[in-house]
Amino acid sequence: MQPPILIVEDDLKIARIIKAYLEGADYRVIHADTARTALEKAEQELPLAVILDLGLPDRSGEELCQDLKELGNFPVIMLTARSSEEERITGFALGADDYVVKPASPRELVYRVKAVLKRYDSGSAGERPASFNKGSLILDSRRHSLTCRGETCSVTPTEFKLLQTLAASPGRTYSRDELVSKALGYQFDGYERSIDAHIKNLRQKIELDSHKPEFIKTIYGIGYLFAGERDAL
Ligand code: CA
Repeated sequence: MQPPILIVEDDLKIARIIKAYLEGADYRVIHADTARTALEKAEQELPLAVILDLGLPDRSGEELCQDLKELGNFPVIMLTARSSEEERITGFALGADDYVVKPASPRELVYRVKAVLKRYDSGSAGERPASFNKGSLILDSRRHSLTCRGETCSVTPTEFKLLQTLAASPGRTYSRDELVSKALGYQFDGYERSIDAHIKNLRQKIELDSHKPEFIKTIYGIGYLFAGERDAL
């Protein structure tokens, strides 16, 4: 069965309309009207994408977005009545892949879902887990999980995305700027330096000796590259 699109919206009228349009575009759709049921449903059936209303009765949509992003690698489109630039930036910083302001045209929303899914398909290294250096690092993009020397390694969604981006092209040097736009998906002044902090944390988690990294190498004055070797399947 095709993974569903999860609509998280407590306004049942809006949810019904969006559901009808998405089904019209041949998507399977499931619905949750609280943050709690949304997490349950997303855990049960890893969704293709989530449409997330920020104004939920039991919890802030912003918080829920972060938890959802830890479950798996799927896009989240935030749906909200708030439209200030600052709030939009907060949404993107929390990992939202797109942002639609209410009242949203359902046709536009379907279009955005398609666009965001296309971006995800071309951006991920594929559905099968990618294994590097004779299995010492295994990246499962679909499950959003990382195994390091046989042990599950817990990383933040941003760290995962960074590693995923770098590991998609071993040996290729990425500038910080490129990593910001590819791994975080948006342009924002000042984020280039935060890449260094994310890389530092990531190294502490995946490298045996973070001062002599085996996987993520610094290319002085430019950025970073992934030095792992992909195992043949
Ligand atoms: Ca609402």
